[in-house]
Amino acid sequence: MAARQEAEADPLQSAAFNKFRERLREKVDLSKTNWFRVGGPAQWLFRPEDSRDLSNFLQVLPESVPVTVLGVGSNLIVRDGGIDGVVIKLGRGFVGMSVDGKRLTAGGGALDQNVALYACEQGVAGLEFLSGIPGTIGGAVRMNGGAYGNDTASMLIETEIVERSGAIRTLSNSEIGFSYRHSGLPDGCVVTKAVFTATPGDSDEIHDRMQAITTSREETQPIRSRTGGSTFKNPEGHKAWELVDKAGCRGLTINGAQVSEKHCNFLINTGNATARDLEALGEEVRKRVLAHTGITLEWEIKRIGRT
Ligand SMILES: Cc1cc2nc3c(=O)[nH]c(=O)nc-3n(C[C@H](O)[C@H](O)[C@H](O)COP(=O)(O)OP(=O)(O)OC[C@H]3O[C@@H](n4cnc5c(N)ncnc54)[C@H](O)[C@@H]3O)c2cc1C
Repeated sequence: MAARQEAEADPLQSAAFNKFRERLREKVDLSKTNWFRVGGPAQWLFRPEDSRDLSNFLQVLPESVPVTVLGVGSNLIVRDGGIDGVVIKLGRGFVGMSVDGKRLTAGGGALDQNVALYACEQGVAGLEFLSGIPGTIGGAVRMNGGAYGNDTASMLIETEIVERSGAIRTLSNSEIGFSYRHSGLPDGCVVTKAVFTATPGDSDEIHDRMQAITTSREETQPIRSRTGGSTFKNPEGHKAWELVDKAGCRGLTINGAQVSEKHCNFLINTGNATARDLEALGEEVRKRVLAHTGITLEWEIKRIGRT
């Protein structure tokens, strides 16, 4: 009886969502869809066909239902209790790429590495840095992803977003409010498309620069581990990894969670860590760094969902 009442109270069970039913799934395990391989289920997972479909869905979704957007989960910890409301993941309808004069357009679900490869094939320079970031274009815009001396903010002309209300808008670079590993995009909006500056370049030279990035990453980052990229932002004038190292945290473990020996601003799930272990380890590192250096580290990795 209680379960029936709960189902009846859930607006996503209502007929208004029947036309989305094929792309809407309930209680979906999210631990398979993020780099750390941890976390509980999404109450609902919606995979829109295209921006219009997403807009239509959000227009009928009551404001009271929380919305969370996920890329490929390469910069977040999904907590063990899962995520309430609707998780949105962009699928095949959002991976297109094209070049038109001085503009390279990529879908919000396209992998950064595929966009870098495409730019190289098209003789477009400046997007090589994307080959070093294992996320999606949506994640890169949201996080102002950057590497090897360049970042999304420096290369982006404009982005298409679908707001929580369902409104589809195009924002210019200056309207996004970029800062280091941060954007001021409206809460709950979905980045569905990004347009980058396309500067002509020599494909062989671009390829060599991408190769150098790949080699450097292999040498310095635990890219074959269950990890979430840089855990903490670099504080002004400091490198987070150096502070973590100085505080004696390299290799520190809590259950299956470990500070990487290879790059100590990376946390690793060595096999059986939970989200709670990873977050507790991050907090322990912050405590030790503060005690040792007087500097408070700020999380770069997003922690989302219920504990
Ligand atoms: C081995 C490794 C190396 C890394 N190296 C780098 C690096 O060199 N430089 C760097 O900047 N990052 C790096 N990262 C971190 C990560 O890849 C980037 O932050 C990336 O941009 C996150 O993209 P994602 O699709 O995985 O986003 P997720 O991790 O899924 O989400 C991150 C945030 O972006 C939001 N988001 C995702 N998609 C969208 C969308 N379509 N619309 C709106 N919001 C969205 C999410 O809600 C969340 O807040 C690394 C990660 C790993 C695992």
